[in-house]
Amino acid sequence: MHLKIWTNPNTAIATMLTSMQDVYGTAGIDVVIGSREDLTGGNILTALRDLDVVPNCPAGQLTGEQIQLFNNRNSVGEFDVVAHFVRSTVPGLNGCASHPDNTFGAVITQIASVWTLAHEMGHVLGLSHIGGEDTNCPDNNPRCCSSPDNTRLMTGCSTSNIVGTPIIVQSEALGMQGFSNEWLAPHVDHIMGEWLSKFPLLDEERHNGIVLQLSV
Ligand SMILES: [Zn+2]
Repeated sequence: MHLKIWTNPNTAIATMLTSMQDVYGTAGIDVVIGSREDLTGGNILTALRDLDVVPNCPAGQLTGEQIQLFNNRNSVGEFDVVAHFVRSTVPGLNGCASHPDNTFGAVITQIASVWTLAHEMGHVLGLSHIGGEDTNCPDNNPRCCSSPDNTRLMTGCSTSNIVGTPIIVQSEALGMQGFSNEWLAPHVDHIMGEWLSKFPLLDEERHNGIVLQLSV
């Protein structure tokens, strides 16, 4: 995963990363940072810091600004994932995992919780929100979060309410691993060549296969 920082979030990125590594570790997935690009200075594409998104952040539906944001690929391998830290989305969200086809990544905003990064990357790796949180909702508010489960990373009722380390259940862990294997398997040689040229210390780790999951 690569970090592109347009605006620093209120919760330190280091804390979000530690949290992500903790919870992904329970799913047998390690998280490796490939690069970090500081875009907070100067006048670099400042309009993207308050990023226009499609309301409710539907998968595969993007504004022109989102496409422009994800086109910033300095240092990023072809199949690597990017976390873009922006000031806000318009409309306002903690994060949004919509990305262009085969340009994997998510947006994390300044108000994000400590679990937003891990949650949005869960979406990038194919996970949906858990079911059962919206029982007996009125027609005018079908996502009413009448029974939120704040123990789960993939709650659809805001990761801000999570207490302690949330759970990735086995089906979710297998889903993420399967998604990354399916997506990466045809490109293993290409990816490993690219990664090993940049990060030779990973050579030892590749033998257990986990790096392929880590690199996403
Ligand atoms: Zn979500």
